[in-house]
Amino acid sequence: MTSSTPYVELLEFLDRYPRLMVLTGAGISVDSGINTYRDHNGQWLVKKPIQHAEFIADATIRQRYWTRSAVGWPAVGAAQPNVAHRALARLEQQGHVELLLTQNVDRLHQAAGHQNVIDLHGRLDKAQCLSCQKSESRAQIQSRLLDQNNHLCEIEARLNPDGDAVVEDNLSALTVIPNCQYCGGVLMPEVVFFGGAVPKSRVEHAMAALEKADGLLVVGSSLAVFSGYRFCRAAQRWQIPIAAINRGKTRADDMFAVKIEDDCSAVLGSLS
Ligand SMILES: [Zn+2]
Repeated sequence: MTSSTPYVELLEFLDRYPRLMVLTGAGISVDSGINTYRDHNGQWLVKKPIQHAEFIADATIRQRYWTRSAVGWPAVGAAQPNVAHRALARLEQQGHVELLLTQNVDRLHQAAGHQNVIDLHGRLDKAQCLSCQKSESRAQIQSRLLDQNNHLCEIEARLNPDGDAVVEDNLSALTVIPNCQYCGGVLMPEVVFFGGAVPKSRVEHAMAALEKADGLLVVGSSLAVFSGYRFCRAAQRWQIPIAAINRGKTRADDMFAVKIEDDCSAVLGSLS
C-alpha cells in the first residue's frame, strides 16, 4: 500500500481491522463490461423479473428466460476480472480476507484467483437439471441454444455487446428450450431467482465467517437486496465495524465507519 493514496480512512481501517470479510455486489463488475443488474440473478434490465416458481411451472416463462439469456450470456461469459477483483485476490493472498461473499453470479472473483469465495446468489456459468440433478456448463448450453434456434443467432448479431436489450416476446415464442441432455428434465440456471431462497447452509457459513472477522468491507453494492443487507445488520449487532466502497447511496449508509464514494477499481487499485 502506498502513502500517496487519497483513501487514507480506508487504509487506516484495513490496518486496524486486518482480518476482513468482504461483501461484493454488481458495482465491482461494471469495469468488466457487465452492466449493473436490475436484480441479482443474471436477468438483464427487464420489466418483469422472472420468479422462481413460474420458471419451474411455466414453459413460456422458460422460453422467455432462455431467449434473453442467449442474448445476454456472451458478454458475461467473455468478461474478465478487473483491477478491483485482482486487488481483493491480492488482499486475500496477504492474509487480510477471511472470506469473500459475492452477490454477483459472474464468477469473476474466482477468475481473478480468489480462493475462498461464497457465491451468495449462485453462478450463471452452470445449470442443473431439476430431475436428475446433473449439471451442464452454460457455455455448452449456449451452443445447443444457438444450434436449435436460428432466430437467436440473428438477434445476437444485431445487439450491442452489453446484452442490455429487451427481446420481444414474439421471438421467445419461437425458442426451443434447452432441456437436460441426460434425462430431458427442466434445466435451471444455478442462480437464486426472485422468490427463490438462498440456501441456508450458504448463509450460515458466511455468518460464521463474519462473526470471526475484525471488520466487514462492502464493495460495489447498494445493499438493496436483503440477502446482502442482513450481513451489515449482523455486523452491527456484533459490533464489527463496516467500511464501504460504493458510488451512490446504500441501504446501510448509517452503519458505516468509513464510506468511500468512488469507483471500486480506482479505490482498490490504489491499494497495491
Ligand atoms: Zn436430467
